[in-house]
Amino acid sequence: MKLRESNLHRLETRDFDVLIVGGGINGAVSASALAAQGASVALIDRSDFAGFTSQQSSNLAWGGLKYLENGELGLVIKLCGSRNRLLRSYPSSVREIRFFVSIERGFRHSRWFLWLGTLVYWAIGRFFTRPPRLLSRADIDEEEPTVRPLGPGGFEYSDAYLIDNDARFVFNFVRSALDHGAIAVNYVSSLGSSRDNDGFWHTRVRDEVSGREWTVRSRALINAAGPYVDELNQRNGVPTRHRHVFSKGVHLVVDRITPNRRVLTFFADDGRLFFVIPLGPKSCIGTTDTPVDSLPASVEPEDRQFILDNVNKRLQLAMPLTEADVIAERCGVRPLVVDASSGGGDRDWMQLSRKHAVEVSSSDKHISIFGGKLTDCINVGEEIAHAVYELGIDLPYRGRRWYGEPPDSIRDEFFHQAKLMGLDALTAKESIEPLSTRLWRRYGASAMALLDDIRQDPGMAQVLISGTEYIRCELHHAAQREMVTKLADFLRRRSKISLIAPIHQIRTAPGLVEACEILFGAEAQQKLDEYFLMPEQPPESPRASRPPLAPLAAIAGPRATN
Ligand SMILES: Cc1cc2nc3c(=O)[nH]c(=O)nc-3n(C[C@H](O)[C@H](O)[C@H](O)COP(=O)(O)OP(=O)(O)OC[C@H]3O[C@@H](n4cnc5c(N)ncnc54)[C@H](O)[C@@H]3O)c2cc1C
Repeated sequence: MKLRESNLHRLETRDFDVLIVGGGINGAVSASALAAQGASVALIDRSDFAGFTSQQSSNLAWGGLKYLENGELGLVIKLCGSRNRLLRSYPSSVREIRFFVSIERGFRHSRWFLWLGTLVYWAIGRFFTRPPRLLSRADIDEEEPTVRPLGPGGFEYSDAYLIDNDARFVFNFVRSALDHGAIAVNYVSSLGSSRDNDGFWHTRVRDEVSGREWTVRSRALINAAGPYVDELNQRNGVPTRHRHVFSKGVHLVVDRITPNRRVLTFFADDGRLFFVIPLGPKSCIGTTDTPVDSLPASVEPEDRQFILDNVNKRLQLAMPLTEADVIAERCGVRPLVVDASSGGGDRDWMQLSRKHAVEVSSSDKHISIFGGKLTDCINVGEEIAHAVYELGIDLPYRGRRWYGEPPDSIRDEFFHQAKLMGLDALTAKESIEPLSTRLWRRYGASAMALLDDIRQDPGMAQVLISGTEYIRCELHHAAQREMVTKLADFLRRRSKISLIAPIHQIRTAPGLVEACEILFGAEAQQKLDEYFLMPEQPPESPRASRPPLAPLAAIAGPRATN
């Protein structure tokens, strides 16, 4: 908690060039880009970083093949470029993955037409990935026998996915902002802002942990509150040309459906693309796309039924999936941008664009970020840095690179040291990949310090929460550097434990108490009680109240194949 306390103190005692409200992907990249280029930045989120929409995505970095059908060529060109940039910049976190698509008889387009579409898509992506492949029915039977033969075959093409998960990916931008001197604090709300005669924005904030309130002064204000952007702008009296409408998307996490690390892709009954996506040792199925008016959205029985019906119809499993097989549910709203005057309600819902919009008021030094995708995050960071500079805020290190993994020389040294100390021999049997690979991906250059911890005390390489792959030194690292304020911050966002293990297994996992003691010291018991008595999404899983299906040790599967 020391990191949070010291950041809170600085948030209370300093003025800033920029205050960013909202620590989802848009706020996190803005903070990272601005801090690295020399602005003094504060970032606040009223829950945890990535604690709202950005923890509920499909974990894909993609150009949006499906947007070609709407004729959104410009968006696809841009997103393919963004995907390629992510693949180049984050080779250990963002990986190419094959989408294995099966077409049903009577589908609105022929298999040949769709395959030609993937060739166009591949060309738009500048041939950066492996080429698409046409699949006969026999190919599907042979390569993915779980897929029910319902048509003439299909095709395979590439996009990319986030290997850890979305929330971890976002947190790494927050961490990078902190490393460049930004002040970032979770569980701090903006109660509203006004611009005063002194030329500063005055934002009333509340620490949601202590209840304390005070005012933060900043030269510019960025509203990155995701689906709450409109609400916050209204409160602050900021008029805008855009606004959001919301589309709810639900995913269900179940035991792994296919041993192959690829995305099984279908067209659901409503005609939309529908996926079975690898999530560590599990599979994540979804998603839905339904208009909603109010926030936050929750999983309704019909959402669950839609996903289960669609997947059971298209897969031949030993037993059809039921609610009892659901380990965790994810539910978020896509904030979709529409013109504030047109409303968007009269348009075909699925045709609404997934573009983002950055709206700048130069006179007020105010920026709102509408919509967007994780995939486009580097562009958003760059656009915001440019917009802030145009507002007259000095960026002494303008143009300095603010994203991407550490240089190859540091990477090589890390893997060399890891090899010399025989690190991978310490890989837990539950782990889906060698320990060195995972530590490098999650912690980058900071992973060097973990090697040192393990050299000093081999016990630091022991898995702490039994059945998961997280080792003792990672908990110490999280306690010091990852602003874990509630147990859910670690279990759901810094790691993905609560997505792949049902809550009753986590509750009884040996090592959980020690993990809490490392994270929270004297407050360990209180944080444990808070997590189990008041779960973030009650209950995290429909299986929470059911008898366990598998021992906790079974939450990790075989090694990844890519
Ligand atoms: C089901 C689903 C699947 C998706 N799949 C993909 C995908 O595969 N690939 C992809 O690229 N994109 C995907 N997206 C889109 C992507 O996840 C979102 O566009 C993105 O996460 C939005 O980020 P954000 O930062 O704008 O909003 P958020 O992540 O919601 O962040 C806004 C933050 O602001 C905070 N906040 C709000 N009000 C206040 C206040 N008053 N004070 C302080 N803080 C406040 C909130 O707590 C929140 O953390 C998906 C979205 C959904 C819903």
